[in-house]
Amino acid sequence: MQIFLYYFYNFMLQVKNISFGYNKEKVLKNIDFTVNKGEHLSIIGESGSGKSTLLKLLYGEFDLNEGEIFWNKTKILGPAFNLIVGYDFMKYVSQEFDLMPFTTVAENIGEFLSNFYPEEKQKRVEELLEVVELSALANTKVKLLSGGQKQRVALARAIAKQPEIILLDEPFSHIDNFKKQSLRRSLFKYLKNKNITCIVATHDKNDVISYSDNMIVLDNNKIMDRGTPQDLFNNPKTPLIASFFGEFSVIEPYGIVYAHQIKMVEKSNLKAVVKQSYYNGIHYLIEANLDGQNLLFEHYKELKKGLEVSLKIYN
Ligand code: ADP
Ligand code: MG
Repeated sequence: MQIFLYYFYNFMLQVKNISFGYNKEKVLKNIDFTVNKGEHLSIIGESGSGKSTLLKLLYGEFDLNEGEIFWNKTKILGPAFNLIVGYDFMKYVSQEFDLMPFTTVAENIGEFLSNFYPEEKQKRVEELLEVVELSALANTKVKLLSGGQKQRVALARAIAKQPEIILLDEPFSHIDNFKKQSLRRSLFKYLKNKNITCIVATHDKNDVISYSDNMIVLDNNKIMDRGTPQDLFNNPKTPLIASFFGEFSVIEPYGIVYAHQIKMVEKSNLKAVVKQSYYNGIHYLIEANLDGQNLLFEHYKELKKGLEVSLKIYN
């Protein structure tokens, strides 16, 4: 049993009750969680809730006010105790990715790879270029790239040496929608296959819902909720969590109801008056008034303003 437990403790990130402030005011209070080897965890929260700060603390960029962080048996130390920030087993891609602008994409990606076996190095760089879909730009100088292309170079650079754990701060924020979907699949699939632990700070549900094993929600300097994406989606405790996943209304006495959980029916006691229809591709989002309460539901076609509709709630 002891050996079994040791095995588990030996491969994980442990964040033990940490608190931190840039000044007297705390940005994060009593943050406590663990992440297993190969697990994908998302940190979500509004802008300014401390997502980036938390990733920087995990990387050892600042000294904690309270608590401890461990990766396996290594204690993550801040700059007061560790002259060179960062560890070999951990890579961090910040919101302001830093690259070498005057060298090529391939050189940037291969910078930390050994030159001892040039053929292997080249193969590896080619594999990485494919993961981030940049093969066509291998020999282009980084300074000539768009923001989104630079972000992809930064991602490839971070996974080049196969870290044990990777910290990604809004990793697709600069990448346009045309590329985003396939890049997400490609990167997260790669990390899962290599059993690389991954922590993603994001405010985009699409970075989380199909890829994360677990998520934590930051609000008011604390972890407000945690669970699998399914748990949090199906049972949003607060409007903040629901708003992360989609359109919703708070309706007495039902509570939080997503727009897709309200259907127009032929007859019911729940009657609302249509205020506005918004086309959104798959369906229309209908805004309606239910006894003075604002309500949102989905419908397959546009509805006229002023129309009285009967509704049913399936939550
Ligand atoms: P998020 O990434 O969720 O948007 P941040 O971690 O960037 O949030 O910021 C959390 C809080 O800490 C904000 O109030 C922000 O203004 C503050 N903050 C961030 N970086 C610094 C810094 N270098 N010095 C002082 N305050 C900071
Ligand atoms: Mg941030």
